Amino acid sequence: MQPLLRVTVILAVLLLPLHAADFALMVDGKAAATIVCSPTAPLPVQYAARELAVFLAKIAEGEQPPVSATPARDRSNVFLGTVADQALAKAAAVEPSDLAPGGFVITTRPDGLYILGGDPLGTLYGAYDILKKHGGIRWLFPGAEGEYFQVKKTIAVPEQKTIRNPYLTYRWMELNSVAVNKPYFDTREWQTRNYLIPKCLPVHIRSQQHGNHIRELGAECVSIGGHVLTPLLFGGKYPRQAEVDSLFQEHPEYFPLVNGKRILLDGQKYQPCTSHPEVIEIMAKSLIAKATDPDCTGLIIIGNNDGTGWCECENCRRLDPPEEAAKNRVATRYWTLVQTLAQRVWEVKPDAKLGGWAYQNFWAPPTGITLDPRLIVCISFNNQCWRHAITDPKCSVNREFRKLYLEWKNLGVQMYNRDEIAATGSVGSNFLPAEKILHQNFLDYPSLGLSGSSFCIVPPPPDAEVYAPLRRNIMDERNLRWAAMWQTNYLSAQFMFDITLDFDALYEECNRLFYGLGWEGGMKEFRALLTKAFAETPGCMGWGQNAPLGRCLDQPGVQEQLKALLAKAEKAAAADPDPRALQHVQRERDIFAYTWEAARVTYLESYRELTAFRKTAPIAIDGVIEEKDWKDADVMTGFMIPPWSKKEYQPEQTFFRVVYEPDNVYIAIEAMEPTPDAIIAEKNPQDAPHNKIGNSLEIFLSYPDMAVEYFHYTINSAGSIIDARHGPNKRDLAYNGDVEFATKVLADRWVLEMRIPTAGIGMKCFDGSTWRLNIARNRRISQDSSELSSWGSGHFHGIDNFGVVKFTPVRPTGLAQGHDPSAWKNASFNEVVENATLNQYRQWPATWKTTLVPTAWKVEPDTVGSTRLHPESSSNYYVELEKGIIGNWFVSPAAKLRITFRASGQGKARLWTGKYEAAKGKGYPFKGTTGSLTFEVKDDAWQTFTLDTDKGDEPRLLVRFFHQEGIVRIDDVMVTPTAE
Ligand SMILES: [Zn+2]
Ligand SMILES: [Zn+2]
Repeated sequence: MQPLLRVTVILAVLLLPLHAADFALMVDGKAAATIVCSPTAPLPVQYAARELAVFLAKIAEGEQPPVSATPARDRSNVFLGTVADQALAKAAAVEPSDLAPGGFVITTRPDGLYILGGDPLGTLYGAYDILKKHGGIRWLFPGAEGEYFQVKKTIAVPEQKTIRNPYLTYRWMELNSVAVNKPYFDTREWQTRNYLIPKCLPVHIRSQQHGNHIRELGAECVSIGGHVLTPLLFGGKYPRQAEVDSLFQEHPEYFPLVNGKRILLDGQKYQPCTSHPEVIEIMAKSLIAKATDPDCTGLIIIGNNDGTGWCECENCRRLDPPEEAAKNRVATRYWTLVQTLAQRVWEVKPDAKLGGWAYQNFWAPPTGITLDPRLIVCISFNNQCWRHAITDPKCSVNREFRKLYLEWKNLGVQMYNRDEIAATGSVGSNFLPAEKILHQNFLDYPSLGLSGSSFCIVPPPPDAEVYAPLRRNIMDERNLRWAAMWQTNYLSAQFMFDITLDFDALYEECNRLFYGLGWEGGMKEFRALLTKAFAETPGCMGWGQNAPLGRCLDQPGVQEQLKALLAKAEKAAAADPDPRALQHVQRERDIFAYTWEAARVTYLESYRELTAFRKTAPIAIDGVIEEKDWKDADVMTGFMIPPWSKKEYQPEQTFFRVVYEPDNVYIAIEAMEPTPDAIIAEKNPQDAPHNKIGNSLEIFLSYPDMAVEYFHYTINSAGSIIDARHGPNKRDLAYNGDVEFATKVLADRWVLEMRIPTAGIGMKCFDGSTWRLNIARNRRISQDSSELSSWGSGHFHGIDNFGVVKFTPVRPTGLAQGHDPSAWKNASFNEVVENATLNQYRQWPATWKTTLVPTAWKVEPDTVGSTRLHPESSSNYYVELEKGIIGNWFVSPAAKLRITFRASGQGKARLWTGKYEAAKGKGYPFKGTTGSLTFEVKDDAWQTFTLDTDKGDEPRLLVRFFHQEGIVRIDDVMVTPTAE
């Protein structure tokens, strides 16, 4: 027995990581200290003591250390309190001024370990800091599913005096899209464990059931705030309509004057008359009552009703400085109200925290009033771009906001950012890998004048569900918004408190815990690729920019790679002993399907026409698609198998993009190929017989002047070309386009990059032109068969089946980027939408017989017709007109235009064009008819018609078809410049 005993003793010594100077909290599962906390200490401090005891026992799988009002004599003590307790601060040798609110000190003294907060919440953070740092626990996600630790029998704190103060003063989260009166303890506990300041409402803090715990969590109670102008006018409560009506009867002068008449507030659309002294008096009284509520010390934001309508009475308008009035801005008027009300509150409660926001038509600071430095400004630029950091010079959206931040900063007021990233309906709720962007923003906060963030999120299940009226899709049904953004939420919380932390280390640590074996098994690569795909998609992504999420999967093969990585990770995570690893990977697989993949389907269905942008830099024709213009280009895919195909299969996908300049069209095509070694293609002389071409791509190009003719280029992966001019009954191989091209066969695809000189085709690429294009593919990897597919619904030849390419000078930037910049939209009628999904101003009349309507086009009331598919096509639409008028705008400086269209049916109609000035106030002034063509159709054969017109210097041309007799079918209405 002797030798064995000796071994045991040595092992025990080795396992015990205690140094002489360490302060032991748990030793071998036994409590080694007493936690000392005054029973009169603030609730968060008492809670900190209990949490420390509970979690020490949990982590050490042992007994809970006792929590006592007095120090133990027989063992060491942990003292919890705040620096407001002078005796404690002295014993801990801490200067109270060294700690900010939310800050804490952890110090080992001869008589014990001290955890003192700059305020009660600081003490709670301090206790959690000990547990995180020395117990190894992490709270990555609200609730039990996010708690991670490994059993550690012995927990000790090394000798130290550590002071941590928060980086940002305001570290809030806004719990959006859920019922406001529920406590959501999982989420609020998660917040305190991750250094955030939970917020609550009087309904929480005064609740019999929840009030005590809400107070323990140090939640700041906010008595009123947000869109409050109507409530302030009605004693602090949202009024019933009858109360509004009766006040309107009695005092119409309290209500906004709009177009010369006092009107009701119309929900949140308008503000009351904010210059009326009685209105101000009523609002001040309501606000004072709320602001002096002893339970509520949180910041009150005096925000406008959620609409841009303001009173137009003389007194209100007098408040607007001319430069603001000229821009329809109301900053001075808004801040005059906020400041007037705030001053009234400060007369009775000087330390009340009050502020307003920079929002809607008052983003910029006021020019006609000097703000009291006690006011706190909430910056709420809802359109902020999340693809780029605020300071990223590439970002055309945030660039404008940066100027505004600096204007605000110059005023010297305290301000924080409302990061509306992950609320339901905001772009970030759709699984944006934005954690690194947020980290950069937080780094830049001081330079922008920001000292805090209010982060909008949706609390997760099990204790939260999305508010029923907002549950519009499966993400909300299952309430996956937090799960989709958990890294951003978790990491942002860490950096709001401490920006010096190492991003890469934290990122790696949290993901490794959360996905277990799934992280190295695939999730790490998945996240990296997802982030790359998000970051490298052209344009910005923020609310109001309508940047399609589906475009993030434009890069060929990325969607398949992402799915493969998820599948790989799922397999790896299944071997993890912690079942959460697999659950987390599987949930992410679902989220990816519900967000990115679903958006991809919608994107491919809605963007049937390719917008090509003008070339800005040289493009080398070398088969390497790396140039800037290629990266900025829209990418088209969605190749289908021919409708005549006897086999049903999913074709290997093909992706292409187009760039133009007046003298050249550039096309880059990537044909995904899992078995490049099996490709059958040989280098042939030019225009060798088509049956020798093998694995190839076919490019069909036509400008409107060519009517039904087109150029046809067949190029195989070995670098052979056949080029021809083609028509319905002709094929002219004598045509030689002098096309420059290069092919490359890579590991997972083959690439064709080509330049078609316009000198060889007889028409330059004018800005604003609309041409027809088709790309088809003959995938040949076996001697017996080919796999055929094309962009034109599976068709190869036949101009009716071609798609549309729109030559558009530049991709729009800034806040305008949601707008389609092309001169002529939906020439093919192939972009269709369910009428019911359009807003009320754009909806087509009920007389239209189909629920699908073409986008961009509009009809006059009572117009009768339908949106129909060509036979044998699932995506090629035309319109059939039985009565009325259908029209569309062409908007470009080009003057001389050619309009071509196809028509069939039995009847008569008239094409009419007229020119219009740019908008002056409401509508576009009419400047005269420019052309007219009456045409007749007699059968189902489609005929082509042409009308030349000249709109001179006017920017807009209206193109309309007036029905005259019978049934007239119309398709492919191309309007294109014929000269520069
Ligand atoms: Zn007014
Ligand atoms: Zn951007």
